[in-house]
Amino acid sequence: MSQTKTPLYIKVTEKDNVAIAVHDIPKGTEVMPGVVTREDIPQAHKIALVDILKDGEIIRYGVVLGYAKDPIPVGSWINEHMLNLPESPALDNLPFGTNVVPMSELPDPPRKTWMGYRNKTGPAGTRNLLGIVTTVQCVAGVAKVAVERIKKELLPKYPNVDGVVAVTHPYGCGVAINAPLAPIPIRAITNVIRHPNFGGEIMVLGLGCEKLTYDRILPPEDITPENCLTIQDCNGHDAMMQAILDMAETKLKRLNQRRREELPLSELVIGMQCGGSDAFSGLTANPSAGYAADMLVKGGGTVMFSEVTEVRDGVHMLAARCVDAHTRDRLAQEMKWYDDYLEAGGVDRDANPTPGNKKGGLANIVEKAMGSIAKSGTSPIVEVLSPAEKPTKHGLIYAATPASDIVCGPSQVASGIGLQVFMTGRGTPYGLDICPVIKVCSRNEMKDNWFDMIDISAGHVATGEATIPEVGTEIFNFILDVASGLKEPYSDQYGFHNDMCIFNPAPIT
Ligand code: CA
Repeated sequence: MSQTKTPLYIKVTEKDNVAIAVHDIPKGTEVMPGVVTREDIPQAHKIALVDILKDGEIIRYGVVLGYAKDPIPVGSWINEHMLNLPESPALDNLPFGTNVVPMSELPDPPRKTWMGYRNKTGPAGTRNLLGIVTTVQCVAGVAKVAVERIKKELLPKYPNVDGVVAVTHPYGCGVAINAPLAPIPIRAITNVIRHPNFGGEIMVLGLGCEKLTYDRILPPEDITPENCLTIQDCNGHDAMMQAILDMAETKLKRLNQRRREELPLSELVIGMQCGGSDAFSGLTANPSAGYAADMLVKGGGTVMFSEVTEVRDGVHMLAARCVDAHTRDRLAQEMKWYDDYLEAGGVDRDANPTPGNKKGGLANIVEKAMGSIAKSGTSPIVEVLSPAEKPTKHGLIYAATPASDIVCGPSQVASGIGLQVFMTGRGTPYGLDICPVIKVCSRNEMKDNWFDMIDISAGHVATGEATIPEVGTEIFNFILDVASGLKEPYSDQYGFHNDMCIFNPAPIT
């Protein structure tokens, strides 16, 4: 990074032959000795710092983003049309354990405890919610109406319960329920029933004729009239609603007994995600979140990061952080599975970047991946999960999911996160109703525009007014405040909650 107070550009490593414009830079500006812009450079976009030959490497983060399609003179604006994509890194025999940072080198967390709802098993909850899980989309309308009635008619009597959530999703019937890939969506529904924020209370609404029967998502001892309600068994609308309300009230009475208590960070599981990223995401928001992740891990907490297509080009960097061969092998397996999944759909990983990403200066998936990985911090990767699996370890975990914001979120929720930190460059109102989502933006202009929808701006890192440890510590403290119920992120204040878009790669019939 350049050392001036308000730099014109940011160059990440000495090896880089491009830099990022901190603000719009007009044509004819000398950004550094010998580098005069040949055209207007939009904010976050790349400037050639040297003459680059045809097929020459374009290097940012010390990594080859691609190869020049044509010669690029010094001072040029390098946009996404000017690069050829490199091959993705091979997955066989990736070296592992070569960059395992010792715990002693991670930053110390300024707080060692938080206030959460302890559970009999698994991590603690960040909220005390009644979760009503549906087996099939057919009952989604009933569940949503019932939840509104429960909130209005019952919830005021149970002040220690934070809310009621209808977990509706597109799965359950009209699907190849025994297909080899069906366990992925089924696991998501099975695990969300046991979400830490639902306090062990099971309330499942079924239709009666769907393929996703209770025995596919619950053990025999939990399939009881108290836990499962089949609406085809109800005699008319009023009896159906009354049965749901009665069932809910039994659960609310027990949930109302729960209290927050002081807990170690080992009881906290959070997820990291980014979306609507720009070229600043990897310089400001994501490394700041990564710093907060390192603090949590050092304190004994668990942090998940995901989004396969956004780490694929850095898989060798992640393998170097895997603690053992098994973890490395699981990482390679998940990447391979996704390569094949994309190939079957006739695309590759570069189908990921969006028009907004490109407008924000991200030329291709390699550049996006280098920024995306920064949110994982620097700690060792102790476990790799398939989509919607639950972790068995504490520490930094790679939980494979699609990168799609609205699919990654529910997958991490099914894996048991109590909170998600979401980094954005372009802005998104995204939120989840099962757990809070904290929004961190990469540029101060984004925060100025959405001053009352973005929780934290990491933009001060780009302008030189704050450091990554400073913003990282701010994020860490906000995570603990939100997890402890002391603060509400904007998405919860407004009730901006997305649907439970679970990942279903299996056939629909
Ligand atoms: Ca995403």
